[in-house]
Formats: sequence, structure tokens, C-alpha cells
Amino acid sequence: MAIHETTAAPTPENCGPLNQCERCRNLTAVEELRESGDTVELDNGRAIRLTIEPDYDTELNDFPDCYGLVEFARRNRNYGGWVRPEGFDGNAEVMSCGNSDPYWWQPPADVKRGTEGFEKLRRTVRELVEFGFVGVVVELRETLSDSHGNPHVVTVDTNSLWGIEWGVTGDYLAGTIRDLVDGWIGE
Ligand SMILES: [Zn+2]
Repeated sequence: MAIHETTAAPTPENCGPLNQCERCRNLTAVEELRESGDTVELDNGRAIRLTIEPDYDTELNDFPDCYGLVEFARRNRNYGGWVRPEGFDGNAEVMSCGNSDPYWWQPPADVKRGTEGFEKLRRTVRELVEFGFVGVVVELRETLSDSHGNPHVVTVDTNSLWGIEWGVTGDYLAGTIRDLVDGWIGE
């Protein structure tokens, strides 16, 4: 009697150092999604496309605990200085950047002026005022043939996360993408 050795298809639990299960292979593919417009193929012939789109529904003032508050600056008509908006205190400052008009920034109270964290936050605020927020959008796509045998790419499913800082890259973008595609890449 011949002994047939059956090899179970690798799963995330037993796929070993080569990461050869479907989920691991797909996760490796998904890591190639880095910029808006990038597409990767999955094991099952489907594909995932990444786009990063402007988020016009989110503004900096939605997150006062993170970024503080901003308000466009007006000049005092009598002596020309900037009028500090109501609710802004002596820690507020007037900033301008790029093509935008000058604006007041009231930093969050718990970020100490003069620290590295404060300078970093100021740069982030400048960028968000200039460029705003984005949404990370992933589409699950499949190529189908029509009755003439011509291929058509259809979007099967879409997931997205909005209110993300402009310029998102690196680990944060990669982690966001992994979360968004989790249901599509196999058990
Ligand atoms: Zn695996």
C-alpha cells in the first residue's frame, strides 16, 4: 500500500519562514502600494488600487486637542496690527505660508513653546493649512470579460479612511493600507 503524503496548504499559522501562504503573499504585494495610483495584483487574480484624495470635509479646527485652532487674521483698522481673535490667548501667533493669507494659530495648551515637539507641530499646522487633509482609498478590482470577450476592470469593493494628514507616507500609510485591505487578502 502506497503511502501518500498530503501537504496541507500553508496558512498564516503554519506557513513558516518563507511566508508562502496566500495571506502572507498578498501582504507582501500590498507593501508595494506607496503612492496614489499604484496597483498590485493579488493571488486570486484580483487587484488592489491605491488612491490618495483630497479630503474637503475635514479641517484643522476639527481637532483642537491635536493641532490647536486657526483663524484668518484681520488687521486693526486704526493702528494696523493684527486683531487677535476671540478665545485666542497670548500664546497665539500669526503665521503665513505659501499662497495663503496670514492666519492666527492658537497652539494646544499642553504643547510647550520652545520644544522640539512644538516646532514640529507648527510645521504640521503650516502644511495642513496649505494642503489640508486627505483620504486613503483602496479599491478591490477584478477583470471580467464581456460577451465579446473584451476585458473590463470593475471595482468590486472600496474601503477608505479620511481625515489623514496631507503628505502621509511610510509606516503610517502602510499600516492604514493594511487595515483597509484586511478583508480582501485571505484568512
Ligand atoms: Zn503566511
